[in-house]
Amino acid sequence: MYRLRPDYCYACQKSGEVQVVFTVNNRNNVACLKMDRIIFGWRLRTAYAFLVDGLAIESGPAHFKKQMREFLAANTLRQAVFSHSHEDHAGNVDLFNQLGITPLVHECALANLTLPPPVPLYRRIVWGNPASGKCRTVGSTIETDRHTFQVIQSPGHATDHICLYEENEGWLFTGDLYVGEKIIYLYDQEDIAALKKTLHMLSNLHFSVIFCSHRGPLQKGPDAFRRKLAYIEDLEEKAQDLQKLGLTPRKITYRLLGKEDYMYLISGGEFSKTAFINALLSQKK
Ligand SMILES: [Zn+2]
Repeated sequence: MYRLRPDYCYACQKSGEVQVVFTVNNRNNVACLKMDRIIFGWRLRTAYAFLVDGLAIESGPAHFKKQMREFLAANTLRQAVFSHSHEDHAGNVDLFNQLGITPLVHECALANLTLPPPVPLYRRIVWGNPASGKCRTVGSTIETDRHTFQVIQSPGHATDHICLYEENEGWLFTGDLYVGEKIIYLYDQEDIAALKKTLHMLSNLHFSVIFCSHRGPLQKGPDAFRRKLAYIEDLEEKAQDLQKLGLTPRKITYRLLGKEDYMYLISGGEFSKTAFINALLSQKK
């Protein structure tokens, strides 16, 4: 279906000790675009974008603009949607505008994409500087020739987060809501109470494949979200019990998730185990 062979790394660039790897895999006629950046042999966090029936889902981060441009030029692109405004999902909004496409986003994402807020240095190193561009508010569904995607409002990771649900195919495009079941880090801006409600709501849908923007296509159904929610609730109960015993958040973090690591240092605590425990202890019920 797509003009680039499946499982083929067609854009592998090496400059100094920075390697950019862009691979395309076809799963159920969905092109899954995997983006990896390797610095001095250290693989940074993977990002995914998808193209299905002329609809691009996610733009990929700015570091992969050249590869995205090349891929999109070789394939049919009619519309685009971003799960939320973070730079690893919407960092190439300008590219879509240049190709005559105004991407669809949650209305709360519009301002962030017109004028991206400052991004911390470690995120700029990993993903690049996000571009600004024009988007428009997504409706309740997105139609392509062969598919209808229901737009699911899914706050928690970000207020402007949406998921896309293709009920006939059993697909759920989850942006940053899956990533893994036993997460140990959280961004300090995440709303854990909203996240729990969203995970519960997603666990009541009927799907068999998750398209995760960091893990790619996964044969996982609603139970994956039930398990993730149960894990968070269990951790929350343990954290609150330890707090009642008089332990500080720092000691609770150490006891439940282990010592802080490189991620705390790199992010200045923005994306960390401490942020996760603080969120569990401070949430409003
Ligand atoms: Zn995000």
